[in-house]
Amino acid sequence: MTRIPDIHLNLNVRGLTASATLAINERSAALVAEGRRVYRLGLGQSPFPVPELVVEALRANAHQKDYLNVRGLAELRAAVADYHRRRSQTPATAEDVLIGPGSKELMFLIQLVYYGDLVVPIPSWVSYEPQAQIIGRHVRWIRTRREDHWLLQPEELERLCAQDPKRPRLLILNYPNNPTGVSYDKETLAALAEVAARYQIVLLSDEIYGELHHRDEHHSIAEYYPEGTIVSTGLSKWCGAGGWRLGAFTFPPSMRWLLNSMAVVASETYTTTAAPIQYAAITAFRERAQLEDYLIQSRRILAALCRVASERLRSVGVHVPQADGGFYLFVDFEALRPLLAQRGITSSAALCEALLTETGVATLPGSNFGCAPELLSLRLAYVDFDGGAALEAAAAVPGDGPLDDAFVRTRCAGVTEAIDRMCGWIARGAPAT
Ligand code: PMP
Repeated sequence: MTRIPDIHLNLNVRGLTASATLAINERSAALVAEGRRVYRLGLGQSPFPVPELVVEALRANAHQKDYLNVRGLAELRAAVADYHRRRSQTPATAEDVLIGPGSKELMFLIQLVYYGDLVVPIPSWVSYEPQAQIIGRHVRWIRTRREDHWLLQPEELERLCAQDPKRPRLLILNYPNNPTGVSYDKETLAALAEVAARYQIVLLSDEIYGELHHRDEHHSIAEYYPEGTIVSTGLSKWCGAGGWRLGAFTFPPSMRWLLNSMAVVASETYTTTAAPIQYAAITAFRERAQLEDYLIQSRRILAALCRVASERLRSVGVHVPQADGGFYLFVDFEALRPLLAQRGITSSAALCEALLTETGVATLPGSNFGCAPELLSLRLAYVDFDGGAALEAAAAVPGDGPLDDAFVRTRCAGVTEAIDRMCGWIARGAPAT
């Protein structure tokens, strides 16, 4: 039988493996199939159901069957533009918006059509860099420090750009951040914007967790660098609809050439975003005010769980930066290096593997986020609980103040149990005192 040899596989994809987050999910599912209890803190999926109002809109539009405009439905683009105007006072119209099947796809398209280096801080979300590799772009990682909460500092950006001031660059900033949960304050955003403007950087502001800022204090860097910032958002996180696949980019009018070019490639690849999903998304963006309660309770739950989990982890000697939003914690085990070395653990991959097999807690190693493999860090997604039940229970707690430990321990037990197991595992290796 003829066998087609694999030697002609595109060099850019040779050796690449499936996205790390999907891989951990499959590995967890295999352990569950063996009858093991697995705590799924690997994949970053919203624990909350899609709001009923938006589900109803999808139901009502199941019959929509036509191919739609490659840029997205005009009404949806207008709704996204209005939403941005309300949230960050940046002027945007429907013409500035591009809808796609998930913001991840739009990120791939922008890297394809813009010929520039990809610049990303360490740590960063798992897919930016593999996308650049697939396309064949240079990647410049910028180091960040534990004492800066792993946030990109304007001086570091300046240092990189000054080496070759005219070089075209695409910088992706993501806040609240995946994997750390940390966000930028206004001063840092303004200072980063100043550097970006001076070097004419194309800035992709990945604000997919913006609505999940625990104190509802999200600010966009587009307020400080409107002429060079593209804001990325979508339904996956704040609307709990990751599997629906809907993302949106909002461009400054002066970057219409970039939007147009992405739309051309979209027209030759995925054609359009699923019609019923686009119709339902109009409701999500336009009726955002009606979703306020859903978001208030979501933030309340995430904030309380974040506090309880961070405090518990810190009590056993690991470093966890103060998260501001989203549903991730970035745990740094460096202080326990000698102890872990005694157990033969000297890399983040080994750390996560040991945790998964010895405690059943699935997490992702820091190396998936651009960290040096030997840095003993991991990301956990505190999402393994019944989000629908937790939302109902939170709504029944009077007032809008913080939820207490007892709430978290009963309503988000999957996560608190997982953290207890991790802490027990760490303590078992601690020297007797
Ligand atoms: N950016 C970040 C930081 C993410 O965490 C994710 C999803 N995990 C995405 C982008 C992609 O989201 P989607 O394609 O579902 O819009």
